[in-house]
Amino acid sequence: MTADGNEGLDRRRFMIASVATVGAAGLMATTANAQAQSGQDGSATASEQGTVYTGDVVEGKQVISSLDIEDLEPGKKHSFYFKGVQMPTGQTWYVSVMVAKGATPGKRLGLISGVHGDEMSPVHTIQSVMNQLDPTAMSGTVMAVFDISRPALEGMTRRWPSSGRGIDLIDINRLFPGNEQAPEAAMRHAGLVFNRLLRANLDYGIDFHTAATGMDMTAFHLARMDLPDVRAMAELYPIEQIFDNKAEPGLLANALIDAGIPAFTPEIGRPRVFDHEMIDLFVEGTMNVIKHHGILPGQIGRTGRDSNVFIADGMFPVITTHGGFIELLVQLNETVEAGQKVAIQRNTFGEVMAEYTAARGGKVGARRTDATAEPGTPIVFMIFDSASAVGGDVVVE
Ligand SMILES: [Zn+2]
Repeated sequence: MTADGNEGLDRRRFMIASVATVGAAGLMATTANAQAQSGQDGSATASEQGTVYTGDVVEGKQVISSLDIEDLEPGKKHSFYFKGVQMPTGQTWYVSVMVAKGATPGKRLGLISGVHGDEMSPVHTIQSVMNQLDPTAMSGTVMAVFDISRPALEGMTRRWPSSGRGIDLIDINRLFPGNEQAPEAAMRHAGLVFNRLLRANLDYGIDFHTAATGMDMTAFHLARMDLPDVRAMAELYPIEQIFDNKAEPGLLANALIDAGIPAFTPEIGRPRVFDHEMIDLFVEGTMNVIKHHGILPGQIGRTGRDSNVFIADGMFPVITTHGGFIELLVQLNETVEAGQKVAIQRNTFGEVMAEYTAARGGKVGARRTDATAEPGTPIVFMIFDSASAVGGDVVVE
């Protein structure tokens, strides 16, 4: 999940910003040198460069360092490894890319997973959609990028392990659109992926996620419902909840929106596993989006109208004040009244250390799955619609 309100992340962003500022002057000489050697301007887009084949083939897939889907043969599926940032050993993190290019031109939709490395259902969702596509019957393009944060996926971790000062975990979904010339690998990687793979090739984008490790979630979108193109896509999913929110800057979906590409962030339940029941809902919704954009003909399936999706404009976490074992008293998607007890926390002797109540009414959007929690851990995320009865009763703050 993306709206985690973790203060540690804010501190980390500040540190990255400081380092970038301090280091900028010293970096100019080496950066200019690198540009002269490579002949690449950091701001070059894929459309300016065209598709660049490095000449390498890895596991039978051609390696590219830039993609322009205009260059690809129509009516076919194409698979590549995209050359991302270098590893500490000087080898390269490759990102898996598949393009289903229709027989005739049309809208271009991007399906993205692996921005967080412990979120597996998104990978399977996109694989399932790509499997169903017949490019000879398509007008337009669907591009899949499966594993943006490769080192995080290899470790089944949310964050990118940077080795600069000993392992430092960086949330790449706070770094977009990235910066190819940044002094830090994850930021560079974000810039390479954004500039050379995504930006010039998409009309619409969907960046699939799940809850973070230790949490479970409903079938959920984080989506800017004030943007008509986003709203139209988000409502095509037969899911439980939509949180209408701008979230934080640096999210991939927000960077795409800033680049003129309507985008949103589905959250497909639990991390680390394939949740097939929930995957099916998101495959159906994504196929609806593909039909909605005229990329494939066919009937629209079940949508948010069928699932009676709850659209919320507010969210608040219930955060532990103590450490200890957590017993949750509410289920996912349950409607909770203001003041209702949502969790009890006990110490090792079984003595009650704390009881937690909802500060206002709403529905449960996410809840903790780990049985323990230290002080300051969000154990329940509640969402509410300020204009409706659900969550309408504001209590004492
Ligand atoms: Zn995520």
